Amino acid sequence: MKNSGYYSQFGGAYIPEILVPTFDELESAYLVAREDESFWQEYIDLMSTYSCRATPITRLDNLTEQLGGANVYVKREDLNHTGAHKANNVMGQGLLTRRMGKTRVIAETGAGQHGVATATMAAKFGFDCTIYMGAHDVARQRPNVFWMEQMGATVVAVTEGSQTLKDAINEAFRDWVSNMDDTHYVLGTACGPHPFPEMVSWFQSIIGIESREQMLERTGKLPERVYACVGGGSNAMGIFGGFLEDKGVELVGVEAGGRGRGQGQHAARLAYDDATIGVAQGYKTYFLQDNDGQMQDTHSVSAGLDYVGVSPILSHMHETKEVRFEAASDTEVVEAMQRTVRNEGLIPALESSHAFAQAYKEAPDMSSNEDILINMSGRADKDIFTVADAVHDPKWQQFIIDKAEAYRAEMQNG
Ligand SMILES: *Cc1c(COP(=O)(O)O)cnc(C)c1O
Repeated sequence: MKNSGYYSQFGGAYIPEILVPTFDELESAYLVAREDESFWQEYIDLMSTYSCRATPITRLDNLTEQLGGANVYVKREDLNHTGAHKANNVMGQGLLTRRMGKTRVIAETGAGQHGVATATMAAKFGFDCTIYMGAHDVARQRPNVFWMEQMGATVVAVTEGSQTLKDAINEAFRDWVSNMDDTHYVLGTACGPHPFPEMVSWFQSIIGIESREQMLERTGKLPERVYACVGGGSNAMGIFGGFLEDKGVELVGVEAGGRGRGQGQHAARLAYDDATIGVAQGYKTYFLQDNDGQMQDTHSVSAGLDYVGVSPILSHMHETKEVRFEAASDTEVVEAMQRTVRNEGLIPALESSHAFAQAYKEAPDMSSNEDILINMSGRADKDIFTVADAVHDPKWQQFIIDKAEAYRAEMQNG
C-alpha cells in the first residue's frame, strides 16, 4: 500500500502487489503530464476540435423568472461529444495512454455511458478496446452496447456474482493483471485506487476552470452557489475544482435520494448517514455497506448515480464541510427534468437533473442579486426509455409494441 493519494484518511491504493509497477508507471506518467504545459495544451486542442470545448454557460431566463430568486445559470457539459462530461476524462486518459506507449484500453461500465465514451476514444486513437459489463447490464443497455460494438470494442458480458457493475470492475482488474504491458485501464470516475481520483479530477477540472472565467465575464462576479450531481464524483470534482479557493462560493453536491431513506432505496452516501467508512475496490471511502462490510443494494432512477462508493476526495470535503451534500428523490428528479425541458428546451440527463432539482428548491429563497450555477453533466437522449416509462407516455408504449411486432414478423419470415 502506498502513502500518497490520501485525503485525510480517505483514498489510498489498496491493490495487489502484482499491479504496483503499473500503478507506479501510471502515476509517474500523470505527474510528468501535470508538470508539462504542452500536455494540457494538447488536451485543450483535442477537446476543442473533437468535443465542443469550451462548452458555453446558458442563463435559464424563464425559470429564473418563475422561481423568483437567484439567477440560474447552467454549464453545458451535455454538449460534449457522446453527450456528457465523461468525454473529458476518457480523452485525457487516451492522451496519457498514447504517451505511455500502450495500445490497448479496457474499462468497466454499468449503464454503458463510460463504455461508449471509452470505445469512442479508442476508435479515435486507434487502440484495441475491451469493455467489461455485467451480463444484466448488457441485457438492459442494448443501445449503448450497440454503439460500443459499432466502434469496434469487444463487450464482455460478465456472468459472475450479481452480474452488474462491481463484477465488471473485478473482471477488468483481472484483465489488467494479465495484460499490464500493453493495456491501460480507463477508470470512469474520481474513485478507485490512487492516482485515479486525483487524475480524473484533474482532467475534469477543465469544467471548473472554464466556468469560473465564464461567470466572471458574464456577471462580473462569482456565483454564490454551484450545484453538481454526485455519482462517483467526477463531474462534481470538475466544476468544484474551479472554485475551491473562493470562500464566497458554496459548493453543493447532490446525490441520488431514490425512493427515500432506508437500506436499498437510495444511493446517498454522504447526504444521509447510512454509509460507513471502509476499504473496497482498492480505496478507502464511505460505502453503503452492512456491518460485515457487504455492499448494500442501491437504487436510483439514474443509472449513473447508482453506486455504493464515492470519491475519497469528496468524502474528505464532506468532513471538512467544503462541500454541502444533499439528496434529491426520483420523483423530484423526473419533475425537475420535465420542468427544464418544458420551460427552457434543455434536456438534462437524469443524473444532472438531481442538481437541477436541488437548485430549484433553493433558488426561490435567494435574492435576484445572487447567481447559481448548475453543472449539466449530460443530456438525456440515453434516458428516453426510463423517462418515457416514468411519464407513462402511451404513444411511446405503442411505438415499442409496433417495433417489436415488426421484428417478430421479420424473424418469422426468415
Ligand atoms: C456518469 C454520469 C454521471 C455520474 O458520474 P460522476 O463521476 O459522479 O460525474 C453524472 N452525469 C452524467 C450525465 C453521467 O453520464
